[in-house]
Amino acid sequence: MQLQQILFSQGFGTRHECAGLAVQGRVRVGGQAALDPFAEYEPDGLQFEVDGVPWPYQGQALVALHKPVGYECSTKPKHHPSVLSLLPGPLRVRGVQPVGRLDEDTTGLLLLTDDGSLIHRWTHPKKKVAKVYEATLKHPMEEAARLQLLQGVVLHDDPQPLQAEAAELIDSTHLRITLTGGRYHQVKRMVAAVGNRVEGLHRSQFGRLALPAHLQPGEWCWINATSV
Ligand code: URA
Repeated sequence: MQLQQILFSQGFGTRHECAGLAVQGRVRVGGQAALDPFAEYEPDGLQFEVDGVPWPYQGQALVALHKPVGYECSTKPKHHPSVLSLLPGPLRVRGVQPVGRLDEDTTGLLLLTDDGSLIHRWTHPKKKVAKVYEATLKHPMEEAARLQLLQGVVLHDDPQPLQAEAAELIDSTHLRITLTGGRYHQVKRMVAAVGNRVEGLHRSQFGRLALPAHLQPGEWCWINATSV
């Protein structure tokens, strides 16, 4: 694939702008300036740099973000900046979208991708992808309330009870809860339905993928779809 086409596919601007990046000496491949925008490269596995920033060629953009408090998952946020503002420009140009949503005050693992089929596969209720949350509770949780979360609770907008796949008390005010659904405010509303209140919420796992330990709040990294 031509270098300008590779840069274009990775979100570095129009074809013309991408050709300009190469001609201006801002692109390096294998440590050498890659000045010819029409030079051919095998894209798979290609590592290049733009303005000194290393970038791996990725046919599909898929990243894990450690979402901090104070960011909305919407692409048109109302009160806080969008999580997309935490990603570099080329990923935004590629049109990555959050895989499901976390509330503005929820922290933790958020996946973003430009692949609509992955978003469908990981958010459709029938696919039952497990999400693990760590909730800080206002009041100590009684065993009866924990069991109720497992047996099912009814929320005001749906007669169908919602059940947690797992609910484990780390201590009396810290609950680890696993859900396969992704309803609006689901953890907070289920906890409220058993007479308690979530004061802090963190997602530690999505599918098989745990939040990478090295990611600080606001940081992101590339991930492979097979690890989810
Ligand atoms: N459940 C909630 O209540 N909030 C989230 O952000 C995610 C799950």
